[in-house]
Amino acid sequence: MDDLRYQVDLLTAMNQKISADESMYRALCEQSNRAFIYIQPQLNVVKTLGRWDEFFGFRPNELSDLRSLMSVIDDDYKEVAGRAFFPERDGKKESLIEIPIYNKKQWVEIHTSVSLNSDDTAAVKIIAFRDITKMHDYKEELTYMAYYDSLTGLYNRNYFITKLGDFITKAEKENAVVSVLLVDIDEFHKINDGMGILTGDEVVQNLGLFIKGFLGDNVIGSRFDGDFFALAIYEPIGNRSVDYIYDTLMEYLKKPMVLTDNNEVLLSVTCGVAEYPEASDNPLQLVNCAEIVLFKAKDTERGTLRFYDKSLMNEFINNVNIERKLKDAVRNMDFSLNFQPQYFADSKRLRGVETLIRWNSEGQFISPAVFIPIAEKNGSIVAIGDWVLEQAIKAHMEWKAKFDFDMILSINISAIQYRRQDFVSKVIGVLKKYEMPASELEIEITESVLIEDFNSVTAKMEELRDYGVKVSIDDFGTGYSSLSYLKKLPVDTLKIDKSFIDSLVDDESSKIITETIIYLSKKLGYEIVAEGVETNEQFEALKDMSCDLIQGYFLGKPMTYDAIEDLLLRLI
Ligand code: C2E
Ligand code: CA
Ligand code: CA
Repeated sequence: MDDLRYQVDLLTAMNQKISADESMYRALCEQSNRAFIYIQPQLNVVKTLGRWDEFFGFRPNELSDLRSLMSVIDDDYKEVAGRAFFPERDGKKESLIEIPIYNKKQWVEIHTSVSLNSDDTAAVKIIAFRDITKMHDYKEELTYMAYYDSLTGLYNRNYFITKLGDFITKAEKENAVVSVLLVDIDEFHKINDGMGILTGDEVVQNLGLFIKGFLGDNVIGSRFDGDFFALAIYEPIGNRSVDYIYDTLMEYLKKPMVLTDNNEVLLSVTCGVAEYPEASDNPLQLVNCAEIVLFKAKDTERGTLRFYDKSLMNEFINNVNIERKLKDAVRNMDFSLNFQPQYFADSKRLRGVETLIRWNSEGQFISPAVFIPIAEKNGSIVAIGDWVLEQAIKAHMEWKAKFDFDMILSINISAIQYRRQDFVSKVIGVLKKYEMPASELEIEITESVLIEDFNSVTAKMEELRDYGVKVSIDDFGTGYSSLSYLKKLPVDTLKIDKSFIDSLVDDESSKIITETIIYLSKKLGYEIVAEGVETNEQFEALKDMSCDLIQGYFLGKPMTYDAIEDLLLRLI
């Protein structure tokens, strides 16, 4: 009896444990984000666990119910799924697939595992379903991001270059041309800064949309980044020729772009073109060539379409070399100074000298007209400018000590230097260090300085002039400013650009302009310098127009420190 009770107790305990285990497993299954089927085919046992209702809205209870499972699977995937449910038929113990259900509304991962009977039929089979819709969407997004630009839907740079490579491969076989046309919005930063990034994005999107209009079998498009677009055109002819695309784009940009906030912007773009096979047969290099063309056009002919040519490339390579050598030269301050005398036109008396930097790189003279713009781009102009300022003032004070001669020292100042906050204090610092009278120093700035914020430009000029330093406008007449604008600026001297002097004698309009500039500047109280005076004829003409000062090869070329010393020696 006791024995029986013991047996019953044991069974009850075991059952309790089993049902406790089962509810634990069930809870675990429900908790996991999976749905399971447990099948013993021979015994016709089908058990379901987990999230059936959420995944499929039903639970299979017997083998025949599995058919309704097939019905939710998208048609294209039915066969794959069918095989995946029976890995044993392929001699395998498991299978793993990812398929869409309910017309791609959902994605599931299906993992089937079987244990086999001795005759290789399935004894027990467990099929687990996992909802991977989110992961799948994410994967698709990643794939999209790997190839496309999210703002415009155009190809991204990498994918564009891959596709361009395909064009080139095809063109090699078919003897065709492939053009790369780059389009960059001029002064886009002004739109971004002035109207906000969202407006900037809208502008980019609109232009992107317009560019999409050119795309087709033989034309692909990309946004590289920012406001920078690219088109690659296979065999550019007819309405996919570069000229046609450019003209159409220009027509579109003639009208202001109306934005969603009803603001309007008028855009201009600069374009650069390089073509296979002329420029390169490598897609990346071809794009680089077009970029170099575009950057060059941005510098000199904004708002135009420019084509690749060899000389431009050579210039670029040359500049890259110069930039490399310039870095070393700046490190060692491997420069020297020349000084060009300036004379009073009426008396031919020496007024002073203009400081001009010189650079001999490995025995080769490189003009400041070439390397100063490079130094301005890479920022080394600041260090160079500091050096020039100090060396020139030092030289000036040495001459002053030796010859006790009153003269003006002019120094060219780049817009980059002038723009810096510490510019004025730096100048004053060096003047103090060498005890140079401020009234003997003149700084020459070009009109490009004046494009900057008017108030800060004039504030610096006033500070310098209050201290006694003269301010001169260099290359006058080539830039943007008119005399009426200049009237508002506190400057002392104007230097009429050499281009007017060059044509002074032969060209009546140059003569009239020069005459007028001289007349008006004198009325406004400026001292006026004519530079680049090469002949006696020019000299006499300028003297007749009452030009104050003359600088040029006719009276004196730029010369070394020692040559200036000789000159001063003769004067005392
Ligand atoms: P710039 O300030 O207009 O200097 C006058 C240029 O004309 C100098 O060229 C000078 O040598 C040249 N020149 C003077 N008289 C004549 C003439 O009668 N005929 C001809 N054909 N040329 C004449 P350079 O020395 O090659 O300088 C070129 C430019 O480089 C300068 O133009 C100036 O903008 C810049 N530069 C020179 N030195 C410095 C410097 O120390 N700092 C900065 N920021 N720029 C400098
Ligand atoms: Ca100058
Ligand atoms: Ca000049």
